[in-house]
Amino acid sequence: MSTIDNLPALRDVIAKHELAAKKSLGQNFLLDLNLTARIARLAGDVSAADVLEIGPGPGGLTRGLLAEGARRVLAIEKDPRCMAALAEISDAYPDRFQVINGDALEVDPLAYLTPPIKVAANLPYNVGTELLVRWLTPPAWPPFWQSLTLMFQREVAQRIVAQPGSKAYGRLALLAQWRSDPRIVLELPPEAFSPPPKVNSAVVHLTALPAPRFPADPAILNKVVAAAFNQRRKMLRSALKSVSPDIEAHLTAVGIKPTERGEQIGLEAYCALARRIADNPA
Ligand code: SAM
Repeated sequence: MSTIDNLPALRDVIAKHELAAKKSLGQNFLLDLNLTARIARLAGDVSAADVLEIGPGPGGLTRGLLAEGARRVLAIEKDPRCMAALAEISDAYPDRFQVINGDALEVDPLAYLTPPIKVAANLPYNVGTELLVRWLTPPAWPPFWQSLTLMFQREVAQRIVAQPGSKAYGRLALLAQWRSDPRIVLELPPEAFSPPPKVNSAVVHLTALPAPRFPADPAILNKVVAAAFNQRRKMLRSALKSVSPDIEAHLTAVGIKPTERGEQIGLEAYCALARRIADNPA
């Protein structure tokens, strides 16, 4: 039986369970347990929280979270080959670790978790943005999670924290910053992973706000932002015509120049525009 003290090195886990990385599953593993412990610490105090981990792979970050004292860790892993490796961790932490073999896009983790809940993951690149958007757009706010501590490609991380006027600024920044406080807390080079990906990576820590930063109807705000960035080089008066025939008047009323482009407008102004449109249906 495995115990905390005799869990094997991650390289040995990979060799023993023949976990050759699969590109189709976005598998770039972290093998340095000092690094996974550091990422686990970026999730903050987990001793009173249930932690949801997506894609534990051979379990490096999982071990970090458990060693940091997570009350419980629930992991969802799509690759059945990882189950035997992860079973060794459940042997070492019998009451605190549970793993589900399934697709994170299909499994509802809430059936297994007790609040407060934190999410921590070295996300598979192919589903990372989709999961983040889902977590940021639940049916009701506040969401089920207190914080998200997530590894992304650095380019995606930059899009989450981007400010107006930058190339990375767009829907993802507005959505994330409307509902949470996102910060890049760690950058990692390709060599930190096995196999190394082609690009740099970064960990983003997002703390859920108790209420969205500025009032706005989510559906209208989403429509406005989608139209504004659909053709980002267009002036807002034409980019947003499909949203309201009176868009020029609405833009002026909330202090936005109709000749500006979507990437120049801040979150507060987008929310004011969404409220104005809601209050003045066509
Ligand atoms: N957490 C591990 C680490 O840091 O070494 C592995 C991270 S690796 C970037 C991504 C992991 O997500 C892989 O183990 C992969 O099998 C898993 N995965 C990929 N798609 C998934 C999905 N849809 N649902 C759950 N897990 C998935």
